[in-house]
Amino acid sequence: MSGFIVSLFWFLLIFGGAVFLAYQRIDLLKSTVAAGIVTVAYSVYAIAGGGWWLWAILLWVPFGVLAALNVTEFRREKITRPLLDVYRTMLPSMSDTEREALEAGNVGWDGELFSGMPEWDRLMSFAAPELSDEEQAFLDGPCEKLCSMLHDWEICHEHGDMPREVWDYIIEQRFFAMIIPKKYGGLEFSAYANAMVLAKIAGRSPVASSTIGVPNSLGPAELLLHYGTEEQKDHYLPGLAAGTEIPCFALTSPEAGSDAASLIDSGVVCKGNWQGKTITGIKLNWNKRYITLAPIATVLGLAFKLYDPDRLIGDKEEYGITAALIPTDTPGVEVGRRHDPLSVPFLNGPTTGKDVFVPLDVIIGGEEMAGKGWKMLVELLSVGRAIVLPSTAAGGGQTASYATGAYSKIRKQFNTSIANFEGVGEALTRIAGHTYIMNAAVSVTAGSIDEGEKPAVPSAILKYHCTELGRKVANDCMDVHGGKAIMMGPKNYVGRGYMATPIAITVEGANILTRSLIIYGQGAVRCHPFVLPEMYAARHADEEHGLVEFDKALFGHIGYAISNLARSFFLALTHAKFSRVPLNTPTRRYYQNINRYSAAFALASDFAMLTLGGALKKRELLSARLGDVLSSMYLASCVLKHFENQGRRATDLPLVEWSVRTLMYQAQESLHAFLRNFPNRWVAGFLRFFIFPRGRTYSAPSDEIGQKIVDLMTRSGEARERLSRQAYTTLEPGNPLGLLQEALELSEKFAPAEKRLRQAQREGLIRSDYLGEQIDEAEQAGVIGKKEADELRDYHEKVRELLSVDDFAPGEFSRVNEAPKREAEKAAPLAAMRKTAVKTKVKKKTSTKKKTARKKKTKTS
Ligand SMILES: Cc1cc2nc3c(=O)[nH]c(=O)nc-3n(C[C@H](O)[C@H](O)[C@H](O)COP(=O)(O)OP(=O)(O)OC[C@H]3O[C@@H](n4cnc5c(N)ncnc54)[C@H](O)[C@@H]3O)c2cc1C
Repeated sequence: MSGFIVSLFWFLLIFGGAVFLAYQRIDLLKSTVAAGIVTVAYSVYAIAGGGWWLWAILLWVPFGVLAALNVTEFRREKITRPLLDVYRTMLPSMSDTEREALEAGNVGWDGELFSGMPEWDRLMSFAAPELSDEEQAFLDGPCEKLCSMLHDWEICHEHGDMPREVWDYIIEQRFFAMIIPKKYGGLEFSAYANAMVLAKIAGRSPVASSTIGVPNSLGPAELLLHYGTEEQKDHYLPGLAAGTEIPCFALTSPEAGSDAASLIDSGVVCKGNWQGKTITGIKLNWNKRYITLAPIATVLGLAFKLYDPDRLIGDKEEYGITAALIPTDTPGVEVGRRHDPLSVPFLNGPTTGKDVFVPLDVIIGGEEMAGKGWKMLVELLSVGRAIVLPSTAAGGGQTASYATGAYSKIRKQFNTSIANFEGVGEALTRIAGHTYIMNAAVSVTAGSIDEGEKPAVPSAILKYHCTELGRKVANDCMDVHGGKAIMMGPKNYVGRGYMATPIAITVEGANILTRSLIIYGQGAVRCHPFVLPEMYAARHADEEHGLVEFDKALFGHIGYAISNLARSFFLALTHAKFSRVPLNTPTRRYYQNINRYSAAFALASDFAMLTLGGALKKRELLSARLGDVLSSMYLASCVLKHFENQGRRATDLPLVEWSVRTLMYQAQESLHAFLRNFPNRWVAGFLRFFIFPRGRTYSAPSDEIGQKIVDLMTRSGEARERLSRQAYTTLEPGNPLGLLQEALELSEKFAPAEKRLRQAQREGLIRSDYLGEQIDEAEQAGVIGKKEADELRDYHEKVRELLSVDDFAPGEFSRVNEAPKREAEKAAPLAAMRKTAVKTKVKKKTSTKKKTARKKKTKTS
């Protein structure tokens, strides 16, 4: 027996020790020393007649290998150099465009998740994002006021545009200037404030949020701020802040959609006439489509390929993609026509330019930035993609949660609120849970941007997942509202948002492409701790220096892979119960679940890259599934951090549990689907053993949690308010959210009276099937008093109004006879807008001229 215990001790010491060293990522030297001590100890024990000789001899082999690997010269020459030679032949070539896309932004929490051993303190150390007093005042003041001015039916159906006074208010209050610094007249808001403003407006009007989103996202202002010359900034930014300049950015053309870098719009450097003088400039030709704000733009950000056949500005003939700012009143520029984006009529249209001659200083950043347009765009996109579309999706989710929660309470079928049906409850749970995930992702990521991060991969994750979750929320919201959401008219507050969801899916990198190519494609190279250093080392101009760097990265990589094998297996076996977490709170298990999947993901990812190499890029479904795992972990981490940021409110725990469980369950299923479809079945089997040694044991959220969430969103209270914090809920005519909340509170107030009514019905005191008559009968029978009866009538009138839909006279549908009149009406606001912008510009110029004249006069006198 004692012999067995001693053997067990040695077994645990040798194998357990090896797993421990790998699990804890102990470095090569320390691991070698530890292995040496154990090997010598066991050998002494064997010599003393205790252990087996064979084991003692076998133990010297790994120790010998480890010891040899510590001899740097030997390792480099005998192992690394031959491997580097093979690696160089396998390394796919990389275009400048690809390299620039890969290098955009920086790596933060996404890198930790990729490491297989996330350092939670890095995420937890970010402060909770907060609005400054000024930003909060803007949300409470101008933003609330704007929301009160926005009436979707009027905008979308009647005007096909926002009314003039709304445009004026937007410009006057500098909604277009949230990202412009104060010194140019802008608001200089944080990324978090920008996101909160857009979330609020999006819940009220997709037309307004799209219109305001564009100038505050990737457009002329953002490009100028990062790359513009001082003269360009001084020239354009004050006008963009004041709204006298209306910007748009034109990249997409009929030939180049998702593959934007393949654009054929051109600029040729040549001599030409500019304001009466012959200068060296650019002759531009373009044909762009889908450009938001193009119909009224006064300044057009343009992406084109620059050529210099006569080498007038340098020694190159082709410069590549270049970004420039073109005033739309330049001869040859065409703007003004409109597309109709799914009957959500924000201003969007084509623009063309035929032989437009402009000076060289239209290039953003001046001549030296010729050919750097793509780099500029991808760098800015690495931040911008995390703000506008995700926050508008979150804003839509907040509105949907608030409205649907109340609606499902006041809408009754089969004599009970529809919220009480489990099937409806399932949809309600998804609406609230998905909204919580979007809120968390937007707030945590915007907060990290304000702390200086440029989260390229998280931006792609947010763009894809928030817009997809937004679409799911819109679907569920439609289903719960039934016919009420289908009949269009001023009373339908759901349909237009539902119609708008594919727009967010399509823009800023269409979603299928973003999931299949960008999230993991960029993540694998950027976030992996060793892949990019290996690539750079292999391409290093100085081959010997490259060898040293490659050796460092390669052996780091091998240690990392071994560690992930150990971590993945051990964490899966133990359900990660012993893994390190940053907090000892009711959410600790969720941190551990993420730890487990981080190790499994890192392992799967490494083997995919090792066995498929560059072909992984073409295996989009495999790449997309790995991207899904990374995204689930990122979003779940945001949920946990958001819960902490909001002060760890116990009432939000069901939302946290539902969100993390849903996301990590998806991570499990995506990993399973990845292994199921992995082409090399041996490797797939090997990985499955280390990733799922106990099978797929993680469960999706229970129905019980779902029920808690339904209660939380269908009852007035702080959790319901917190979930829809930015929603426009003011009680006023025409605001469905305010009116629904009022009805919800009244339903809670009158619940006891309604119970008495039902009892009276059962007792035969009330006979009518009609509610109005039931109240009369109950009053007559003394079941309720007069005051209560009046209040009940008033409440039911409000509910009836909220449940009602619009109808129209047959003639109102015909648009044929109205067409010419409507064309004129539609053109009017656009024409007026552009005139105002131009007039103001002229006025400004005149007043500047007058001022200069006055100054001169004063000097002379
Ligand atoms: C309302 C609206 C506003 C817009 N505003 C602007 C603007 O202001 N400025 C501007 O420059 N552009 C703008 N765009 C253009 C927008 O960015 C493009 O629509 C988008 O890039 C997709 O291009 P596409 O529509 O030509 O689709 P396509 O490129 O034809 O793509 C079609 C489908 O194929 C998928 N796909 C393509 N390649 C791959 C791949 N390699 N792997 C997997 N799937 C792939 C896409 O995901 C998509 O689902 C706007 C578009 C819309 C609809």
